[in-house]
Amino acid sequence: MEEDAKSCGGCAGTGPSKFQEMVEQEELKDRMGKIKHKILVMSGKGGVGKSTIAANLAVALSKTGKAVGLLDVDFHGPSIPTLLRLEGKPVYQTEEGFIPVESSLGMKVMSVGFFLRDQDDAVVWRGPMKIGFLKQLLKDVLWGEQDYLVIDFPPGTGDEPLSITQMIPECDGAVIVTTPQNLALNDVRKSINFCRRVNIPILGVIENLSGFVCPHCQSVVDLFKKGGGEDMARKMEVPFLGRIPIDPRIVEASDSGEPYVSACDNAEGAVILGKIAKHIMDTVETKS
Ligand code: ADP
Repeated sequence: MEEDAKSCGGCAGTGPSKFQEMVEQEELKDRMGKIKHKILVMSGKGGVGKSTIAANLAVALSKTGKAVGLLDVDFHGPSIPTLLRLEGKPVYQTEEGFIPVESSLGMKVMSVGFFLRDQDDAVVWRGPMKIGFLKQLLKDVLWGEQDYLVIDFPPGTGDEPLSITQMIPECDGAVIVTTPQNLALNDVRKSINFCRRVNIPILGVIENLSGFVCPHCQSVVDLFKKGGGEDMARKMEVPFLGRIPIDPRIVEASDSGEPYVSACDNAEGAVILGKIAKHIMDTVETKS
């Protein structure tokens, strides 16, 4: 392929790098074209529960019988391998590409975390190196035919998320995760504007860490202000998908590698996540 690119003199005004870019774009389109629906999970900043929500939405979708892939491109905190107890699993590479790691629930999973020796690795990778690697990851993972690909995005609205959106053709939409606190809400406004700028449909906003599930009686207590995410969604004219309370069982489930929606399927947060997954399915499947 490189040989072709170097010797290509037939396309006026296109140098080898442009040609290579076109080939890569085609490969990317071809690979991603086998996946019916691509859902981004975004947040304005880290620590709001974005990866937890991405993993649990993917599991909730797969529990409905859909073929689901989960892709973690969050270089700064690739927590998906931990959340699904897949840490240290080897990624096999064939001539055709990388074989995704299979979770115990039959989901196909790929994460930058599988390629990093430790967290510090992410820090030393420079921007263009990260983007090049992510492009390869998107282009070369052998997802096969899938109904859904849930993508755990890097937080924020900087160059990295921007470059990744350009690499995901025909994305169905983004779910934006926020918390009730005002600071996070300012960030979510930026995420909404980001999606609008790059033409990604907004599937809705989830307010995570909203209220607290009492470990004794399991009822939800409103410790802090809640409803900010809902107000924000209304003002910004985007759908509000639901509130997930702080539930110590989410942390336990995350630590044990068994996703909350399967480990505690009757818990309030798990029920809401299941409803959100169904709502997303209805939205994207009626559009296609
Ligand atoms: P992000 O991807 O936004 O950086 P994570 O998904 O890694 O955030 O979550 C950060 C921490 O918060 C994790 O320890 C996770 O278990 C915990 N967490 C997320 N959502 C909840 C929740 N609703 N209740 C309790 N703990 C939560």
